[in-house]
Amino acid sequence: MELTAVAGVRLKATTPPTTPPTKVTAPRSTYDAQGSEDPVGGFGKLVRKDDQAPTGDKAVDAAHDNAKLVHDFYAEVLGRDSIDGKGMEMKSVVHYGDQYNNAYWDGEKMTYGDGDGELLGPLSGSLDVVGHEMTHGVTEHTAGLNYEGQSGALNESWSDVFGELIEQWSDNRAGFGTVDAAKAADWLIGEDVFTPKIKGDALRSMRAPGTAYDTKEWGKDDQPAHMKDYYKGSQDNYGVHINSGIPNKAAYEIGVKLGSEKLAKVWYDALTTSLGPDSDFSDAAAATIASAAKLYGAGEVPNAVADAWKGVGVVPATTAPKPAPAGTPSRSHQHGEAGDGIVPPWLATPGTFSK
Ligand SMILES: [Zn+2]
Repeated sequence: MELTAVAGVRLKATTPPTTPPTKVTAPRSTYDAQGSEDPVGGFGKLVRKDDQAPTGDKAVDAAHDNAKLVHDFYAEVLGRDSIDGKGMEMKSVVHYGDQYNNAYWDGEKMTYGDGDGELLGPLSGSLDVVGHEMTHGVTEHTAGLNYEGQSGALNESWSDVFGELIEQWSDNRAGFGTVDAAKAADWLIGEDVFTPKIKGDALRSMRAPGTAYDTKEWGKDDQPAHMKDYYKGSQDNYGVHINSGIPNKAAYEIGVKLGSEKLAKVWYDALTTSLGPDSDFSDAAAATIASAAKLYGAGEVPNAVADAWKGVGVVPATTAPKPAPAGTPSRSHQHGEAGDGIVPPWLATPGTFSK
C-alpha cells in the first residue's frame, strides 16, 4: 500500500506513544432497577458507589467492578479519563426489566438486563459487554458515528473491538501487546453471557464473523466477513450489527499480526482524531492507516493495517474524513429502542426481523 495515496491526512512519523502515568478515578454509581423498565428516578435504587465493598448481588457487583476495569483500561492504555475524557461519572443500572435480553448505553448510563436464562444470562457479567457499552459512550463523545448504515456498523465494530481488547488486557495485562497473547485470545463477544446452556458460542466472532452461534431456537450467525457479502437491506438500522463483521475481521487480523496494544492505539487515535459522524468503511480504512503511520512511522504497522482492510475488500478513501465538530455528540444506543442494544434485533425480539 502506497501511503501517499491517502491524500490530505497526516503521515508524519513520530515516536511510538508512551503510556501516560495517568492515575484517574472517575466516580462510579451502580443502581438496581429492581425488575422495572421504568425505575424510580430513571435509575432505581443506588446500591454501590465508588470503592464500596461488594454487595453480594452478582449482577450489581459485576457491573460495578467491570466499569472500573473499563475505566482503568482507557486510563492506563490510552490515557483517557472516563467516557467523556473528563472524568465523567460511570453510572450503571442492573436488573432492568423482566428477563430483559439486552444491554445498552443511552448517553447517560449503561443499562443491563438479567436475560431470560436461555438466550442470555445477566449481561453485566461479561466484561466485553460492559466494555462495548462504555465504548459507545466514548464514540459519542469523540467521532460521534451516526448509528445507521456504515457509520453505525463502525460504531458497533469499535465497541466490539474495545470490548474484546479490554477483556484481553484484563485477562493478561503483562502479555497484552504480544502477538502470542492476541493469538491465544478468543475474539468472541458476549461468550460469558450468551446461551448459558450452550457451550462455546457467542454473540459475535471477530476471528470468523458468521460462525459465532448455530442454534435451533435462534438460528445461525450470518455476519459477513468481507464486502462481497455486505448486507444492503434496511433492517437493523441498515445492518449495524451485521456489517460490523467486516471491520471486526480487519481489526482481528491486525491484532494477531501486530499485537492488541498497537491495534488499540491505532483504533483509538482514528476514533478520536479522524473519524466523524458520517464516516464510512473507506474513511475508516484511510483513517486507521494514517493513524498507524502517525503513531508508528511508515512500514510494518500501517502496511499491516492496509493489508487487513484489503483482506476484507475495503478500499481506503483518498480524501480524509471530516472529524466530528467539537461538542456535538451524536445519537448512539439512545433510549433502549428495540434493536439498539448489544444484542441484535433478530435475537432480542425474535419474529421482528427478516433479511
Ligand atoms: Zn452496541
